[in-house]
Amino acid sequence: MPEFRRADGRIDIKSLTLLEIEAALTGLGSERFRALQVYKWLWQRGVREFDEMTNVAKAVRASLAERFYIPFLDVVAVQKSIDGTHKFLWATEDGHRIESVMIPDDERNTLCVSSQVGCAMACTFCLTGDLGLRRHLKPSEIANQPLQVRQKLDEQARISNIVMMGRGEPLHNLDNLLPALEIYLDEQALNFSHRKITVSTVGLVPQLQKLAEALQVNLAVSLNATTEEQRRQVMPITRKYSMEALLAACRDLPLKHAKRITFEYVMMAGVNDSPADAVRLVKLMRGIKSKVNLIPYNENPDRPTIRRPADAVVKGFQHHLVTHGIQASVRVTRGRDISAACGQLGKADPDKARVDEDRIQAIRIRREGEGYDASRFAFDDIV
Ligand code: SAH
Repeated sequence: MPEFRRADGRIDIKSLTLLEIEAALTGLGSERFRALQVYKWLWQRGVREFDEMTNVAKAVRASLAERFYIPFLDVVAVQKSIDGTHKFLWATEDGHRIESVMIPDDERNTLCVSSQVGCAMACTFCLTGDLGLRRHLKPSEIANQPLQVRQKLDEQARISNIVMMGRGEPLHNLDNLLPALEIYLDEQALNFSHRKITVSTVGLVPQLQKLAEALQVNLAVSLNATTEEQRRQVMPITRKYSMEALLAACRDLPLKHAKRITFEYVMMAGVNDSPADAVRLVKLMRGIKSKVNLIPYNENPDRPTIRRPADAVVKGFQHHLVTHGIQASVRVTRGRDISAACGQLGKADPDKARVDEDRIQAIRIRREGEGYDASRFAFDDIV
């Protein structure tokens, strides 16, 4: 595991696993079991300073503070959609913007988490791809998103599910994703059940296999096409891993009993929404423990030629799948007014289009805004 060091030489302690913190503490001459205490302060209590760790000896706290720092994302804005969706815009230590989106519905509160700054996959229909890949997020940056949303929202808005469907391709950043998932899952840390976590991918085959062997989280694959040719056009990664190879890998993944792979299918009018596509999709799903999630395309001015199919087309497509034995749901679009919907993350990047304040019904909470304790989110000594 590489260490993440700041310019002042101190190491990001929240990008370390419990085992790595144990090793660090024994190196500092402290007892191993102290590591669990430190870990709980970091992830259960979410402290900002080593000095808040009151059951850790003062001397140990001091030597921890000499070598390590406790990173947090800076809250730039929280926008609220008319449908209750919240978009959190964060700044990383080096000034990049990333987002998390909290989507409440009747049964759950799902947090959509980013895994990279930008994305290298360049899917033609997705805005995030326009940025290219700036960098991978560190484990602490991936794990701080739910921690900090928890700290911001009250009890009623508890996060019940996490989906790795924000900016970025999580499996392109597997080295940092795995320790972050460990923090999500560890009952001494964020304590989410593996049933409540979903990793979504364009289908990086070797990484998909590695993830499935390492952890039992839910898997979602963005399929988005029914022929190789069509998929190559919308998802260039198909040139590296063909759809055939991807589906073969999905068929063989070591899934636990009762688990199914979700296949996301962004429906684009005249591109992949024909009856022939529905027929092919049924065939492609053969032999795979699968369910299909149809996502009607979220239109945006940067892709004027890509249109959302009429609702009746989506319904008809779903009907064909269901009547042919495929579990299929339609994803309800959420947070579109604040550019928080699928494929829209990237719009709020100041380097690109600025959020149109009039057009959106957004509540922008500035750092010193109402009910905001700016000091909790201050960057202090971080450059
Ligand atoms: N890189 C991962 C994680 C991102 S998830 C992946 O591709 O799975 C984002 C989901 O939104 C993907 O299924 C993607 O295909 C879909 N998407 C992208 N742009 C969209 C748009 N404009 N409308 C609807 N869905 C979109």
